[in-house]
Amino acid sequence: MTRIVVVGAGSIGSCVALRLAEQGAEVVLVDAREPADGLSAHGFGWVNAVDNGFEPYYRLSAEGLRAHERLAATTDGEPWFFRRGNLHWADSAEGARRLAGIADGYRAKGYPVEELDAERARRELQPGLALDGLHGPLLYYPDDAHVISDRLVSAVQARARSLGARLRTGDAVTGLLGSGRVRGVRLASGQQIEADAVVGCAGRGTRELLGHVGADVPLVEPGDDSGITVRGLLVRTSPVPVRVERVLHAPHLSIRPHSGGRLVLHCHDVDEELTEEGQDPAAAEKVLARLAEVLPGTAGAEVTVEDAFVGVRPMPADGMSVLGWVPGAESLYVVVTHSGLTLAPVLGEIAAQEVLGEPSGMAAAFRPERFAAA
Ligand SMILES: Cc1cc2nc3c(=O)[nH]c(=O)nc-3n(C[C@H](O)[C@H](O)[C@H](O)COP(=O)(O)OP(=O)(O)OC[C@H]3O[C@@H](n4cnc5c(N)ncnc54)[C@H](O)[C@@H]3O)c2cc1C
Repeated sequence: MTRIVVVGAGSIGSCVALRLAEQGAEVVLVDAREPADGLSAHGFGWVNAVDNGFEPYYRLSAEGLRAHERLAATTDGEPWFFRRGNLHWADSAEGARRLAGIADGYRAKGYPVEELDAERARRELQPGLALDGLHGPLLYYPDDAHVISDRLVSAVQARARSLGARLRTGDAVTGLLGSGRVRGVRLASGQQIEADAVVGCAGRGTRELLGHVGADVPLVEPGDDSGITVRGLLVRTSPVPVRVERVLHAPHLSIRPHSGGRLVLHCHDVDEELTEEGQDPAAAEKVLARLAEVLPGTAGAEVTVEDAFVGVRPMPADGMSVLGWVPGAESLYVVVTHSGLTLAPVLGEIAAQEVLGEPSGMAAAFRPERFAAA
């Protein structure tokens, strides 16, 4: 039986571990911390086909939506995947032009986008929506989806464990065994786990992990000169008295339904002011203050911040996913990407297939070699 260690029990590592276990591999999924403490479990969880101008990435994320459906059909417990669309609107002429341009790009690919007026949006999609400064139509993407990300991670891990995968948390990988050919991992506890292959799904820990074999996948770092803001605040509210069923992208606030009537909130402009990871209750109050401007039914309802998690996006330097065998380190495979909640199920399928010996055409555009060549 093939023995595989998967490093990182976020959304991606959990999906990789599950697909490997399904195919009969002996899997150990290792994480330095508890799964509920990581970025994936706190994630915003908008699942969409990403049109960033690179066709293979669009195809990968569009397949990601289908892979969520395949995965959700196999896990037990509370549902975590909801194909209920995403509503987007602007409050300035410039914003409306920008959203119209994005929508045109999706339509050209055959990805459905509908235009709604305020009355129809309130009647059919979100009663009580405040749209006073609305410019242009509301844009509705019915094929978009969202996940309750902590449920996703635990449901996938539960299924992987039911198939024999072992989960080891609170024990960081501090080294890789073998030279030239990786033969397993060394843990902070001093233990070693031998394996036929190691799959690095360590998110922001990827560079350090690859550093053990002298390899690297450059990631955008907080505060570097890339112009990309990678630090981000995810605010989870207490239960709200308004029913929200789908992702809402208001001009200055993004909203995703969470379990028990809670919401997860995110603001891009607030991300730009963050200076460190961890909890940031002051910034979270700023985000929460915007909720009643979008959903006035939440005003005066004692809605509080339950969690104010600041994480860092694992964003490869060119913005695209990275997956494949690490150059110069036989038996070490790496998967790291932004949009990891959208992509985890499809990357899990692809990585498991490749690690077990069958290359995937869909992965060809995303190899780590591109950085070595640069
Ligand atoms: C504000 C914000 C909003 C976002 N919105 C979305 C969105 O709407 N849709 C979407 O698809 N994506 C979104 N993302 C991105 C998404 O959250 C990430 O791409 C995804 O969670 C990454 O998953 P992962 O499994 O790679 O990483 P993680 O969830 O970070 O998991 C990696 C794990 O590896 C472990 N690890 C690292 N090093 C080691 C080591 N040496 N030994 C053992 N364990 C180790 C860590 O402890 C961690 O648990 C957002 C991110 C942010 C910050």
